[in-house]
Amino acid sequence: MKSLTDLTFDNRFARLGDAFSTEVLPEPIAEPRLVVASPAAMALLDLDPAEAECEEFAQLFAGHKLWHEAEPRAMVYSGHQFGVYNPRLGDGRGLLLGEVVNAAGEHWDLHLNGAGQTPYSRMGDGRAVLRSSIREFLASEHLHALGIPTSRALCVTASNTPVWREKKESAAMLLRLARSHVRFGHFEYFYYTRQPEQLKQLGEHVLSCHFPDCLEQEQPYLALFREVVERNAALIAHWQAYGFCHGVMNSDNMSILGITFDYGPYAFLDDFDANHICNHSDDSGRYSFSNQVPIAQWNLAALGQALTAFVEIEALREALGLFLPLYQAHYLDLMRRRLGLTDAAEGDEALIQRLLQLMQGSAVDYTNFFRALGDSAPEQALARLCEDFVDLAGFDAWAADYQARCAADDGGQEARRARMHGVNPKYILRNYLAQQVIEAAEQGDYGPVRELHAVLSRPFDEQPGMERYAERPPEWGKHLAISCSS
Ligand code: AMP
Ligand code: MG
Repeated sequence: MKSLTDLTFDNRFARLGDAFSTEVLPEPIAEPRLVVASPAAMALLDLDPAEAECEEFAQLFAGHKLWHEAEPRAMVYSGHQFGVYNPRLGDGRGLLLGEVVNAAGEHWDLHLNGAGQTPYSRMGDGRAVLRSSIREFLASEHLHALGIPTSRALCVTASNTPVWREKKESAAMLLRLARSHVRFGHFEYFYYTRQPEQLKQLGEHVLSCHFPDCLEQEQPYLALFREVVERNAALIAHWQAYGFCHGVMNSDNMSILGITFDYGPYAFLDDFDANHICNHSDDSGRYSFSNQVPIAQWNLAALGQALTAFVEIEALREALGLFLPLYQAHYLDLMRRRLGLTDAAEGDEALIQRLLQLMQGSAVDYTNFFRALGDSAPEQALARLCEDFVDLAGFDAWAADYQARCAADDGGQEARRARMHGVNPKYILRNYLAQQVIEAAEQGDYGPVRELHAVLSRPFDEQPGMERYAERPPEWGKHLAISCSS
């Protein structure tokens, strides 16, 4: 276990030089205090969880102090936002403080979000509000606990620095951890600004630091693209299987590592709705829940375009063609597990589609459905669950087919429950829960956000006394409008 002051830095991205990032010092926020810290994320840096109690902790993560070895820099990138190319984005309100090397030899980027203005701030104030910082913190640590690849969050600090959004709010900072902060938009930036040397330097950095196996291949950049396609197929399959809606799948918010990245107006589905649009600013529904699959492929095509600098377009096209079948296979596998099926059968895809169609016209809580399905033996579980479906005859027919599919499983209900509860969370990050703890935190009460974080860190466990966190949203919590403003 290490203390805060013994972290070891090795700032590989900073060493790429000024074409890639600009040195900027964090602008501290006033009277910082720790809102919440993640012991699991601290462990990635070998930090003793008790370090979060030190005064220095809030100081470091609110921009008041800096490690000697840190080299804070704002990264430049571009990207396609809502399908339109924006030639210059970049870290407008976040800084890469440096890369910490842990005892296992892993590099972890320390990214301080809300650290003040940078050359990439455009019209923005460089700040992040408490609301959005808490939302990213909760989601990062919760998705990780669900087994969904994601950037991580170490802590949130609150302050008395005022910031103006639709109303007066207060500035906060979030310390994000990721093995890399390189986005699809990094490649797009150097491709469209016609900087082939820098594009190559970026590619070599990504290959050697993050995809060393691809360097062994005959065509390393093609191998890299294939790997990114594969990782995204797996990632999006997890989002769709668990009802996660990202909300702003711009290519600058897509990580080259295939992890969930840059949390904005995200949501987990409460009642199942394939057409759900979680981003209030997304008028056309470009980033609706079901569109996440084709949009991921669209973003991969945008990345592929930048890689035409290195690879024949036909080979890239072929690799891109792997996305849908790989996604389908991952998704089927995850959904079979969620349904408690232990083997694969011909009609499984249709069985899953029929269930979702029945849910679509009803008001079925997507998370609680699967949890309840495993709670008791199929017959009893289905008898109880049918009440939520509008098309009762349709549900009965589905239930009969599902039961027939379960008949091959002779492991008994105990084993079935353990297996299903291991993949079907009891607790999910519902927007209304986030909203409640945000309102408390805005009043200076950090108890609720800490408790919610702790509950969501063990989403599959029964947690006696915490059942209220598994409840469906009350009427006011069903239609919360979450916008891009953060
Ligand atoms: P996002 O919607 O958070 O993915 O951000 C899109 C772009 O806007 C990125 O380049 C951000 O750095 C920048 N940005 C977002 N909010 C702010 C802000 N308050 N101040 C400066 N830049 C911002
Ligand atoms: Mg972004």
